[in-house]
Amino acid sequence: MAKISCPQCHQQVDSQAITCPYCRTTLKAYGHPGITLHRAAKGTYLCDTCTYHVDDSCTFPQRPYAKDCTLYQNIADRNAQIEEQKSSNNFDASIKSWIKRNQALILILGLLLICLLFVIFTS
Ligand code: SF4
Ligand SMILES: [Zn+2]
Repeated sequence: MAKISCPQCHQQVDSQAITCPYCRTTLKAYGHPGITLHRAAKGTYLCDTCTYHVDDSCTFPQRPYAKDCTLYQNIADRNAQIEEQKSSNNFDASIKSWIKRNQALILILGLLLICLLFVIFTS
C-alpha cells in the first residue's frame, strides 16, 4: 500500500489514512480518503507555493494565508509534470517524423522480412 509522510510528525502513514495514527492530524477533508487536506509546514503558508496563487485564479477567502487547503497544487510539481509531458510529446513527434522520412526504407525492410519468412517456411 502507498505511503505518505505526515506533514506534522513526518511518520510514514497509509496514503488513504483519514487521520495520522501517530499524531492524530487530519489528513483528509470531510472524512473522505479521496480528498487530501494539504497542510503547510510550520511558519509557512501553502499559497506561497500554490499554482492557483501564482496564476491568480484562486478565490478562496483564506488566500494568501492558507495553512490547510484541499485544492492546493504545488507549483514545482506542476511545472515538472508539464516538462515531462512536453518531453514525451517531443519523443512521439520525433518517432513520427522519423517514420515519415524513412517510409521507403521501412517498406523495403518489410518486404525483405516477408521474403525471408517465405523462404524459411517453404524450405
Ligand atoms: S488553492 Fe488553497 S493553497 Fe492554493 S492559493 Fe488558494 S487558498 Fe492558497
Ligand atoms: Zn502525524
